[in-house]
Amino acid sequence: MKILIIAEHKNGTLTETTRELFGLSLGESEVHAVVHGGNVGSLTDQLGHLGANKVHLINSPSVKNHTGEVLQQTIVQLIQQLNPDTVLAIHSPLGKDLAPRLAATLDGNLATDCIQFTLDNNNLHVRRPVYSGKATAQVEFVDECLKIITMRPRSVRPPEPDLSRSAEVIEFTVELSEQKTTLKEVIASGGERPDVTEAAIIVTGGRSLGSAENFSIIENFADLIGAAVGSSRAAVDAGYRPYRDQVGQTGKVVSPQIYIACGVSGAIQHLAGMRTSKHIVAINTDPDAPIFQVAEYGIVGDLFEIVPLLTEAVKKRNDN
Ligand SMILES: Cc1cc2nc3c(=O)[nH]c(=O)nc-3n(C[C@H](O)[C@H](O)[C@H](O)COP(=O)(O)OP(=O)(O)OC[C@H]3O[C@@H](n4cnc5c(N)ncnc54)[C@H](O)[C@@H]3O)c2cc1C
Repeated sequence: MKILIIAEHKNGTLTETTRELFGLSLGESEVHAVVHGGNVGSLTDQLGHLGANKVHLINSPSVKNHTGEVLQQTIVQLIQQLNPDTVLAIHSPLGKDLAPRLAATLDGNLATDCIQFTLDNNNLHVRRPVYSGKATAQVEFVDECLKIITMRPRSVRPPEPDLSRSAEVIEFTVELSEQKTTLKEVIASGGERPDVTEAAIIVTGGRSLGSAENFSIIENFADLIGAAVGSSRAAVDAGYRPYRDQVGQTGKVVSPQIYIACGVSGAIQHLAGMRTSKHIVAINTDPDAPIFQVAEYGIVGDLFEIVPLLTEAVKKRNDN
């Protein structure tokens, strides 16, 4: 099977989620990767170490700060030339935008937000959550058309890089037709903390924090353990956190190693965004809060007491 992986990068480094795509069981597949943007040449070694046989380098300024339309045209041209069986992307903002465009343009089979990928003797099937994560569906591909799959971040572990491996690098030049949209400006959202979709640990606060200032309790704890700060929609609607931190059905879908929910009730729409987390910890004053039904560890108590205690405990451990 010929597989094309859409690689994403930030500030000259492959994203952790891109590295995860190489952790899928790809069998004896011929693995291609495409990396696009300005000055991306240094990423080809990293992709080779992860297991790419060939890297298609689109080192053009026109795809550095691209619109969805530019990337669609670019990747469509590459796919038409390469003719892969499967395209793999991360279920990131880029992947969510690109994958349906590819499927529509190339009449491909699309499966998004998958949490399991099984390749068995060239038979491919995936699993994806449905009904806000209450069930998972197995998707099989019944014809030979191009398969386009986006994987939920943190569904698999990235492999250790093998420094003895390298990829053949192929420069790919695109010819872009007239665009219907142009990108005017990119405004960085700022902040040093990891994004919730990329973090291994997330500490989330809910409406019960009561104010934007009180979120400093959550931030202090998160910073000490290298976590991202998440938020329920109620806390976002109340203006305590920016929308980019919202976890859930109408926010971001996350799957970290550890998810610590502080004063979050666990409404179905919140669970839809975090129930595939590996270990869920909940702190809530209400022992009947629905969040405890999905939590592996639960603390019934006041977050304004518990979170500072945990912060102190981590500080002490770090000092020792
Ligand atoms: C179409 C739709 C989409 C939605 N999408 C989302 C989404 O993407 N994400 C999302 O989060 N929600 C979403 N919601 C909203 C969702 O239904 C809930 O209203 C929301 O998740 C509740 O947020 P919360 O848990 O912070 O607040 P609450 O429901 O008010 O819960 C607060 C919790 O904190 C506990 N608590 C109170 N004080 C303390 C304390 N001192 N210490 C510890 N615990 C305390 C309470 O016992 C309670 O369980 C959506 C709703 C709809 C209708």
